[in-house]
Amino acid sequence: MSDCIFCKIINGDIPCTKVYEDGAVLAFDDIQPMAPVHVIIIPKKHIATLMDVDTDQEVISRQLFTAAQKVAKIKNVAVGGFRTVVNCNADGGQIVFHLHMHLLGGRKLEDQLG
Ligand code: 5GP
Ligand code: ZN
Repeated sequence: MSDCIFCKIINGDIPCTKVYEDGAVLAFDDIQPMAPVHVIIIPKKHIATLMDVDTDQEVISRQLFTAAQKVAKIKNVAVGGFRTVVNCNADGGQIVFHLHMHLLGGRKLEDQLG
């Protein structure tokens, strides 16, 4: 989508600090990190929210989790631990409407989610 920030990052129109990329996903450092490790993992296909993943697109969930494993190893948080978060729509705090997974780590994260 032409007006989507994350599509622009995929296209190279907006720069990013790339962490991992394959044919299906791109992972890059969050521009406003909430933890020492804060990576955004996105499908290269534009899907607005988690609720827009069709049943015939379930491969996307696996691709995001597989990428999260790779990112955790690249960032050296696989053993120490990390958190993944997918915000959905307004009450979930979603700001960028291109499906994405946050991967946070590098410090002891608080117990609360909100
Ligand atoms: P959301 O609240 O939609 O789940 O999170 C969107 C995330 O994308 C935020 O953590 C925000 O800092 C990050 N973000 C927004 N615009 C950009 C950008 O242009 N570059 C990068 N690297 N991250 C961005
Ligand atoms: Zn997009």
